Amino acid sequence: MTNYSSPILPPSTIGIIGGGQLGQMMALSAKAMGYKVGVLDPTDHAPAGQVADFQIVAEYDDLKALTQLAQQSDVLTYEFENVDQTALKQVENLTRIPQGVELLTITSHRLREKTFCRQHGLPVTPFASVKSMADLQAAIQKIGQPGLLKTVEGGYDGHGQFDINEQTDWHLIESEIEQTEWIYELKQDFVRELSVMVTRDGQDQVITFPVSENRHQHHILHTSIIPAQTTDAVKSKAQHIAIQTAEALNLRGVLGIELFELSSGELMINELAPRPHNSGHYSIEACNISQFDAHIRSICGLAIPPIRQFEPAVMVNLLGKNLLTARTDWPTHPEWHLHDYGKAEVRDRRKMGHITVTGPSIESLLASVSQFR
Ligand code: AMP
Repeated sequence: MTNYSSPILPPSTIGIIGGGQLGQMMALSAKAMGYKVGVLDPTDHAPAGQVADFQIVAEYDDLKALTQLAQQSDVLTYEFENVDQTALKQVENLTRIPQGVELLTITSHRLREKTFCRQHGLPVTPFASVKSMADLQAAIQKIGQPGLLKTVEGGYDGHGQFDINEQTDWHLIESEIEQTEWIYELKQDFVRELSVMVTRDGQDQVITFPVSENRHQHHILHTSIIPAQTTDAVKSKAQHIAIQTAEALNLRGVLGIELFELSSGELMINELAPRPHNSGHYSIEACNISQFDAHIRSICGLAIPPIRQFEPAVMVNLLGKNLLTARTDWPTHPEWHLHDYGKAEVRDRRKMGHITVTGPSIESLLASVSQFR
């Protein structure tokens, strides 16, 4: 990866590929620091477009539009992993892309991601590549079950996954298996799901955020509790894994690392997200530097101080119509930090916003947002 010596200072322009809520919160951080922000997203007036200096309304893989964004930006970043890598490579010499294309190549493909982790001594669940029913049978034989069969690319929040156990509908899998490439993973009987946000600053210092504990519903993140309600030993192990991962990746920008905590206290990486992560939103109100500030500072080559969390925090996602309830109930909950992403269409289970609450007692924070849990 190119090592840029000079930091990118305001009022330079930051181009963001993707106009969703992550792009919006990145843009808000960047604007507060005095940067100009441009966004590429096919939806006019996308959440990030609403707070940026300009939005280019086009598909993410539209090379002409991407070229235009690159030409108008001093630095380019992305808010999701499924960026068109071929198109991004073609604009690499028009601007700076500190996170690089390689980070996407690894993290947008579950098999490459887990192979990368294993090669670098980072703990992952046993896994195997699957392209046919015969491969699947061999993988189950070798690794055991219950397991999960996931598409190597494109799946998120539990989409593109099959549970492999005694109840599995093999006919359904048979009809789909040769359409794409899969990874078979041993299902881990975890006690908790954790995540850590990590980044490296302009002086190559690795910076980690406090560990989040994450609760999901229908495979979608629902609630994060920070700090995670686990032992200090587990939390420092999680941060150690985050540091090793950041160094192995030569990281720029923020990376979210999702982990399983097993009953033995052992940790396993589930997934790497090459961007700020939903479970790190708490840092906006609870920390001296948010994950979005850290992301902007990192891609611009600036220094980042050690992260301090001022108070415990709980974050709940507002999925679908829960946003409408939150808007109505907000006046009676002055303690809520309500984030409404400004999405035009309310859809079932769509991430429409989130609420963060901070205070000394996790129990009372959970009680404050209990209607959404
Ligand atoms: P993913 O789509 O890989 O991010 O997984 C979504 C969720 O499915 C995770 O947050 C876990 O709750 C569950 N999950 C995924 N992989 C595994 C696994 N190997 N063992 C147990 N649960 C898993």
